[in-house]
Amino acid sequence: MTTIAFIGLGNMGAPMAANLVAAGHTVAGFDLAPQAALDLGVPVAESAAAAVDGADVVITMLPSGALVHAVYDEILEHVAAGSLIIDSSTIAVDEARTAAERAVAAGLRPVDAPVSGGVVGAEAGTLAFMVGAAEADIAEITTTLEPMAGKVVHCGDSGAGQAAKVCNNLMLAISMIGVSEAFVLGEKLGLTDQTIFDVTSNATGQCWALTTNCPVPGPVPTSPANRDFKPGFASPLMAKDLGLAMQAAELTGTDTEVGRLVQSIYREFADGDGAAQDFSGIINRVRAASE
Ligand code: NAD
Repeated sequence: MTTIAFIGLGNMGAPMAANLVAAGHTVAGFDLAPQAALDLGVPVAESAAAAVDGADVVITMLPSGALVHAVYDEILEHVAAGSLIIDSSTIAVDEARTAAERAVAAGLRPVDAPVSGGVVGAEAGTLAFMVGAAEADIAEITTTLEPMAGKVVHCGDSGAGQAAKVCNNLMLAISMIGVSEAFVLGEKLGLTDQTIFDVTSNATGQCWALTTNCPVPGPVPTSPANRDFKPGFASPLMAKDLGLAMQAAELTGTDTEVGRLVQSIYREFADGDGAAQDFSGIINRVRAASE
């Protein structure tokens, strides 16, 4: 069994750390507000530096790249040489690469491993991890992540996991707005939501935004639309991820014309009515604009 330091015990980190505890690992967590983790039985240290003391593996799950770097300021000199240091936060590709450089300079083995699957996946231990790391470390990384994972995909070297994550979420945001516009148009043309769903889910419009996270109540009873758009995957997180995608597009000179539009739509939604809604609540914006 491994000794794991887990820093950032929020909506995602607390249940992820709890799954590591349940798998028999020795876990020392740290968070500025640790109550959720304590409630789940995750042992919590007094500081980030104390949490990493004696750890073989360090995992961070924080809101932003700036905070990942701030936590690295506190811990890098205290982590044992040769340890894996895994960042599962969603941060910019270039921030992930500079974090990896800092970890290598401190004698550590860096891993970027952002996740897909949300709080439900974190609780169930079924997250999809997108991993950027050295090939030689993949077997050990996969074993370490296993209690939290449904799937672990090696995407390439440092930063590749974050790259895969922004590409996926760019695709997802565009498809969700497409699905939402199609439902509102179909309704105005006299179709029922069920008919739109039955046709498109068996035709070329088929996608996850339709068949799993359907933005209208009824056709997919487990989707957030059936519970007043309670997240799920909250709109502000989607707006954040689209910001990272556009940052990556600018750095690489990629023309993501629709992505830019979708980012501005989600930014406005997340700052207003959609602040507490699942990202599929964007259909309410389409409806309001169509009245
Ligand atoms: P959260 O805000 O619930 O948790 C972040 C935690 O970090 C908080 O508990 C906060 O107190 C802690 N924190 C902040 N600064 C700290 C510091 N300096 N030292 C120690 N702890 C500190 O966020 P979350 O929903 O758990 O998301 C975490 C990351 O996972 C984000 O990067 C997010 O984009 C990504 N993500 C979230 C979801 C989701 O559905 N929530 C899905 C996929 C990816």
